[in-house]
Amino acid sequence: MSTTSDVKTYSNFINGEWVAAASGQTCENRNPADTRELIGIFQRSGAAEVNLAVEAAHAAFATWSKVPAPRRAEILMKAAALLEQRKEAFAHDMTREMGKVLKETRGDIQEAIDCGNFFAGEGRRMYGVTTPSELPNKFTMATRNPVGVVAMICPWNFPMAIPSWKIFPALVAGNTCVIKPAEYTPLSVYNFVSVLTEAGVPAGVVNIVTGHGSEVGSPLMAHPLVRAVSFTGSSEVGCIIGENCARSFKRCSLELGGKNPMIVLDDANLELALEGALWGAFGTTGQRCTATSRIILQKGIYKKFIDELVMRSKLLRLGNGLDPKVDVGPVVSKSQMETILGYIELGKGEGSRLVTGGNPFDRADYKHGFFIEPTVFGDVEPQMRVAQEEIFGPVVSCIPCDSLEDGIQIANNVKYGLSSSLYTKDVNRAFAAIRDLDAGITYINAPTIGAEVHLPFGGVKQTGNGHREGGVGALDFYTEWKAVYVDYSDKLQKAQIDRPE
Ligand code: NAP
Ligand code: MG
Repeated sequence: MSTTSDVKTYSNFINGEWVAAASGQTCENRNPADTRELIGIFQRSGAAEVNLAVEAAHAAFATWSKVPAPRRAEILMKAAALLEQRKEAFAHDMTREMGKVLKETRGDIQEAIDCGNFFAGEGRRMYGVTTPSELPNKFTMATRNPVGVVAMICPWNFPMAIPSWKIFPALVAGNTCVIKPAEYTPLSVYNFVSVLTEAGVPAGVVNIVTGHGSEVGSPLMAHPLVRAVSFTGSSEVGCIIGENCARSFKRCSLELGGKNPMIVLDDANLELALEGALWGAFGTTGQRCTATSRIILQKGIYKKFIDELVMRSKLLRLGNGLDPKVDVGPVVSKSQMETILGYIELGKGEGSRLVTGGNPFDRADYKHGFFIEPTVFGDVEPQMRVAQEEIFGPVVSCIPCDSLEDGIQIANNVKYGLSSSLYTKDVNRAFAAIRDLDAGITYINAPTIGAEVHLPFGGVKQTGNGHREGGVGALDFYTEWKAVYVDYSDKLQKAQIDRPE
């Protein structure tokens, strides 16, 4: 086991330099599969470090914003190539840091690589608009300008992919940034930023300040030199951030929670749906914003599906994600574990039927980690709290439905609207569901997880505030439109007023 003496202490990364927090206080990063393992010590920062970082980003903006976008894109491409080289080592760090199994942490880094390559391509596009003027001898266009200093506040469940969704489009568009990693996963952000620096991102363009949400996140979003805030996390914190940004007229992107439904109709390929359900519900130990947390089953297959799901859930192997035989890692922390176990108790109290799991997995060799058995509730009613609230753990609620229409109504009747899925062989029903499921993402014959970086990612209702990450649309958040009018008529022309007789 690691002891404090052989563990590295990380400083903040500000203006290309390592800067310790003035408070002298630190936070520990431990392995949730075995908390005896200390992974790193990180600064517990506050407003003083936030100020330094924002000022550095502000100063760097003056030069970075003027580097031609195709040149900035070359740096992104190089960073993506370096990530490819370091993928295995970074995946190991990530699994140790937050628990998900190696094949998933490799996927997390692959997502960052894909994102880097995609947004590097935008360096030679970043298309604006030209359009005819209503007046003769006048040229009109709209161009994209960078926004300025962007604050980025990130969660722990996709420790490199989510920062990459924010940093890559921000950089290619010419912005600079200050990132606050989640307290549980600062190492992956350091790994990511180390690669950016090695690829040639200049000092001050990307800065890291670590510490508690309220102590770093609050002064960061409130800083007057910050022009935009990109936040991914819980709806509770998102609401605080949205309110604060409104007061200072900051642009704000919120990517929040989900309660994602999978509907399985009687005609579905059951084998495929079961495989999808297991992956959607228990992949990343259920700690995905897009995790399948409700399975809405048509009555003809309801019992058979649950019986099979229970049998297969029991076969999933829990353990340290570094072990290639393990399917499901730990949850991220003690408090997350307590929240999830609390929901399991609540589900039992509400009258749903606990059909498998429900307990901490505390065999002797697991007792230093935060493990919970994959848990399935049957006979859940749509209004129960376990069917309405985000649990963010390996817990799935099965709800019966009569028809596709009934299933869609149940699916839509929650405050969130991130991902959704339907299993059917009927193309007519599939297209009706694509139209009617009230969510930012719909999968047909695939579970609710599996987003690709070049498509828009985000949700409706309380899942966010209408922005999307991923895809070219992300550039709408990281750029300001400028409308440009060039009059070459050599006379004053008045729009709307000078009209043909
Ligand atoms: P969280 O508690 O909301 O934390 C997210 C980030 O906000 C962390 O960096 C956190 O810092 C920081 N923070 C906490 N309180 C703050 C405050 N008062 N002011 C400013 N920042 C503050 O969420 P989480 O538990 O890390 O992540 C899980 C949630 O994220 C789930 O609800 C999940 O659905 C959502 N999520 C959404 C998406 C999406 O794209 N829609 C993707 C992934 C996750 P600390 O770490 O120091 O607390
Ligand atoms: Mg940790």
